[in-house]
Amino acid sequence: MNLPSTHGIDAVHVDWARIRADFPLLERTVNGKPLVYLDSANTGQKPAAVIEAVDDFYRRHNANVSRAVHTLGSEATEVYEGARKKLARFLNVRADELVLCSGTTFAINLVAYSWALPRLRSGDVILVSRMEHHANIVPWQLVVQRTGAEIRVAEILPDGTLDLAALYAAMTSEVKLLAVTHVSNVLGTVNPVREICREARKRGIATVVDGSQAAPHRPVDVAAIGCDFYAVTGHKMCGPTGTGALWARREHLAAMPPFIGGGEMIKEVSFDGTVFNDPPHKFEAGTPNIAGFVGLGAAVDYLEGVGLANVEARETELLAHATEELKKIDGLRIFGEAPEKAAVISFLVEGAHAHDLATLLDLEGVAVRSGQHCAHPLLQYFGVAATLRASFAFYNTHEEIEAFVAALNKARKLLG
Ligand code: PLP
Repeated sequence: MNLPSTHGIDAVHVDWARIRADFPLLERTVNGKPLVYLDSANTGQKPAAVIEAVDDFYRRHNANVSRAVHTLGSEATEVYEGARKKLARFLNVRADELVLCSGTTFAINLVAYSWALPRLRSGDVILVSRMEHHANIVPWQLVVQRTGAEIRVAEILPDGTLDLAALYAAMTSEVKLLAVTHVSNVLGTVNPVREICREARKRGIATVVDGSQAAPHRPVDVAAIGCDFYAVTGHKMCGPTGTGALWARREHLAAMPPFIGGGEMIKEVSFDGTVFNDPPHKFEAGTPNIAGFVGLGAAVDYLEGVGLANVEARETELLAHATEELKKIDGLRIFGEAPEKAAVISFLVEGAHAHDLATLLDLEGVAVRSGQHCAHPLLQYFGVAATLRASFAFYNTHEEIEAFVAALNKARKLLG
């Protein structure tokens, strides 16, 4: 694996104040208060290097990819393909096995329509964990509607860990596909995806891992995980919105029919038929989000510069601090206390509605998400209609955690 440049250095040796200063938006105020951005699980903030890369592309290099032989066209193709190579290195996969797309939602739909739909039939089962984001549930429901296959749910335990014994027991011969998240966007649970994929593989079950909440926060080695498909989204990785990728084993990419047809994905077209391009281009019809991928390439460079091991260590430290402070608040319930947990805290405060608290926190400049976090089945398990979610990134500070907790205590008093 290509380890980040600062891999192995303890997080305390990193100048986090300098790193935070790379993010211009974090300087702003909201409602007259310094912004405390605790919604990075929703979307991450962007460092100046990413903003400048996008700006520079439009100012100096803008052209379409893979079509024009002129200089700008070659430059655009070079940076777009360069981003693919960077992302491939980041995930430890081959660049020609990485389909660039608009994000995880597209990536999983690509697997659903091109891999699952032609293969599955009545009697087959898609195994999905209780803690999935809707992006890793609804595409499978669409497949089930058309094929007669069924969805089986792998349940969680009350602390928010996946019930591995139940999961393995559910991996019967009818199961053709397992869809599981690497890290839960609501509970923060880090699933042992390497072990899970090994068990699935032993039983001939293909695996789709949703890496949306993992790739921005910890070193990810997709080759070592041993899955069949791995999806990432750029906007949570300090990159622009509308960027992401699906990694798939080359034998799957070769066998899968295209999902969307058009320009860029063909070698030859006549009215008698079309010869498709080789993977991954076969799956990239139309003009892509070129500037977005230029930004994503810069984001990958940036994250590697900070070092993913450092990011993980820093966020673990912030999570411990925030958890300790929140636990001091009477009537506060945390959802998800898995031993392996990323820096996401979902919670409720007795007697206060999640949306009311989020609104009052916003008045204090604190941005947290309230609602169902695109995970209705998970909230149904806990029997709640909504939670608040504070999610952290390496650019957050201990002072922000204190400001957040103070704002929460103030809001709680106001509500009653
Ligand atoms: N999966 C998880 C775990 C997520 O947290 C998200 C975004 O919130 C998604 C999928 C959807 O990703 P995208 O925004 O790329 O569609």
